[in-house]
Amino acid sequence: MNPADMGDDLERVLLSEEQINTRLDELAEQIDADYAGKDVLVVGVLKGAVMVMADLVRRLHTSVEMDWMAVSSYGSGTKSSGVVRILKDLDTDLIGRHVLIVEDIIDSGLTLSWLLANLRSRGPESVEIATMLRKPDAAKVEVDVRYVGFDIPNEFVVGYGLDYAEKYRNLPFVGTLAPHVYSA
Ligand code: 5GP
Ligand code: MG
Repeated sequence: MNPADMGDDLERVLLSEEQINTRLDELAEQIDADYAGKDVLVVGVLKGAVMVMADLVRRLHTSVEMDWMAVSSYGSGTKSSGVVRILKDLDTDLIGRHVLIVEDIIDSGLTLSWLLANLRSRGPESVEIATMLRKPDAAKVEVDVRYVGFDIPNEFVVGYGLDYAEKYRNLPFVGTLAPHVYSA
């Protein structure tokens, strides 16, 4: 999908595919340096992190295993409920593992701080977080995030894995939607 495919649903492009790719190269380099000689269990948070997970791990030279979790904190709306439910748990035992959580976006931080505590209780050697996007102005809890793609303004964004009512995840860029999309 490109901006033209979206007609007047797209308000504006916040991060282009090129900007995202450049940043992914930098993050992968940093992760490789930090985990040199270690095995990493990369945990993607479904569904939003699918794109960043796929693009990030393919850039890594580090030996990785991939696993997935699905949690729910949002319905189909645009506000965080603060209530986290595990929809799909990991298949992997975390004892003694170096775990790297990969997220699409940190908004209030509620989901991730809950997830962090949950995974830390399972006996891993280390747990770090990589997120493609973060909204500093929306933070309700402090979460220590090792790798951040971009800090963005406190607006609802779609694309690059992020949805509105399950749509727009396949945009290769990150953008905002025109108001009429939400009121339709
Ligand atoms: P938090 O708990 O940090 O407020 O929200 C985390 C989850 O809410 C993210 O993993 C994502 O699924 C969803 N979310 C937060 N902000 C946005 C946004 O701007 N756009 C979309 N599509 N989802 C968001
Ligand atoms: Mg989501």
